[in-house]
Amino acid sequence: MEVKKGVDNMGNYLVIYYVFSFIMGSIIGSFLNVCIYRIPREESLAYPSSHCPKCNNKLKWRDLIPIISYMFLKGKCRYCKEKIGVRYPLIELFTGIVYLIVAIEYGVSLNYLKYVTLLSILIVISFIDMQTMDVYFSITVTGVIFGLIFLVTQGILQNYILKDYIYYILGGIVPAGIISLIILLTGGMGWGDVEICFISGIFLGLKRSLLMFLLSFIIGTVISLGLILCEKKTRKDPIPFGPFIALGTLCTLIFGDNILLWYLSFI
Ligand SMILES: [Zn+2]
Repeated sequence: MEVKKGVDNMGNYLVIYYVFSFIMGSIIGSFLNVCIYRIPREESLAYPSSHCPKCNNKLKWRDLIPIISYMFLKGKCRYCKEKIGVRYPLIELFTGIVYLIVAIEYGVSLNYLKYVTLLSILIVISFIDMQTMDVYFSITVTGVIFGLIFLVTQGILQNYILKDYIYYILGGIVPAGIISLIILLTGGMGWGDVEICFISGIFLGLKRSLLMFLLSFIIGTVISLGLILCEKKTRKDPIPFGPFIALGTLCTLIFGDNILLWYLSFI
């Protein structure tokens, strides 16, 4: 009985943690929206505070509750009734779901913080990449700095030796190197993709990074073919690769260990 009660309590705490993660994710998603909108316009992220781009009215806290404000305002600005893109609540919802998935997969851990940080950065990069076909250097630098901070923290907590640090650094260098070769040999893909792979790789470490790389290409091929078959794109249209690296990373974080175990069972 005692044990069961303990497990039940644990279950309750976990549910609270999952709900908290989802809410936290949607709030962060709201900030990611600001990044996605302002970084390509080279505007400051901190100033001015959120305002309607049309009437310039400052948004109050009740206009900034993720997802809910949008539904309450029926997708229009409170002041000038200008339509607000459905992209905003969708990114909030998506970020919330991503945080929830990482919470379920990694529990209360340093890895949770590490991977929600990585995925948040990848969400910003992907949406900007889709709009502009560009990867901004400021985000790349931010990603690399966070990657190194987490690597060093993990290293201190788990007594890493030099070999372990190299494993993570190679995780960044190897896929980035392969894409560099592809660019030099074929002219396909872009240097932004090299940067994104490098960021993701130093968070993942070599084995998972190679899996991420492979999954990105599979996902990229399937989605690109789908877009061409549905005639949304032609074969000549450039399709940004950043979002596929982000999806490859997400799949690696959720299914990666199972895929690697399955693969190793053949050797
Ligand atoms: Zn307005």
